[in-house]
Amino acid sequence: MKKLGALVPILFLAAAVAPALAEGHHDRGPADLFRLSPLRGNVYALYGRGGTVGFFVGGDSVVVVDSQFKDIAPGIIAQIRKITDKPIKYLVNTHHHVDHVGGNPVFRPFSLIIAHDNARKRMLSSPADVLRDYPVELEKARKAGDQNAAKFYAEQIEWAKKVTIEEIAAPFLTFDSEFRIHLGAETVQVWHTPPAHTDGDCVVYFEKARVLHMGDLFWNKVIPFVDVGGGGSVLGYLSALDRVLSRVPPDVQFIAGHGEVSDVAGVQAFRKYVADVVAEAEKAKRAGVSKEKFLEGVDLPAYKGFSGYSDRFKDNCSAAYDEVR
Ligand SMILES: [Zn+2]
Repeated sequence: MKKLGALVPILFLAAAVAPALAEGHHDRGPADLFRLSPLRGNVYALYGRGGTVGFFVGGDSVVVVDSQFKDIAPGIIAQIRKITDKPIKYLVNTHHHVDHVGGNPVFRPFSLIIAHDNARKRMLSSPADVLRDYPVELEKARKAGDQNAAKFYAEQIEWAKKVTIEEIAAPFLTFDSEFRIHLGAETVQVWHTPPAHTDGDCVVYFEKARVLHMGDLFWNKVIPFVDVGGGGSVLGYLSALDRVLSRVPPDVQFIAGHGEVSDVAGVQAFRKYVADVVAEAEKAKRAGVSKEKFLEGVDLPAYKGFSGYSDRFKDNCSAAYDEVR
């Protein structure tokens, strides 16, 4: 399963079979799957399996950010119900990846689901993408005798053949740059950022609470996945992080898409990782080093302690090499 994540573009995938990056340190047994972390101003971070969920309890309704996977979404709702019985009126998706939107069908009957235009587009095009790309991958996996991968591709192809638009539970409401939800004294700001993790990223800022849900724009002590096929960009990460940091006060609490809640120093440390990868790629390119040679030799020992270094560091370097001049 580990290899699959690197191999497969992360589409909106059907099954509970999640790409490797959705697992990692978020793996927990069923008994202790969820961990709830109360932040400021009635905002909570909820860890389960997949991208960190955030939610805000307002005077008469609840706003949820991201829905993890379909099989555990009822558990997410049960966790929210421990805090409040107010209706869950809004669900914001930070981007289209399955470990952030997989639970949408469970919220769909009662929540207005909102995301960036491109996140909806990418969710809706995923069955066609699977039918275009996966038969070849299935053949490769069969030839290589990789049973796990073959099973995964075969299941995804079957899903893509019969899935309906309702089952995908794509956002009902989309936006292109930003919008606000007004809930009593709290204003929930949702900003699209320059393409970074994907081209449909957004962050959610709880203004009064001073809590910012970063989606996968921020991986705290975790090596990021940059979904180049999904419109993402390594250089874009730097612009997006700068843009977001310039808009919030210095004492904000940051919910990371993957990893623990952090402060501005934690986000700066993550930005430094991205900048260091870009610097290595620039150095190699300027010295006329080929991509193959660069990827063979590149190493940033300072980040070896980050989760996912062996899985995704070289992918980040490869994407950076392609982007820099
Ligand atoms: Zn993601």
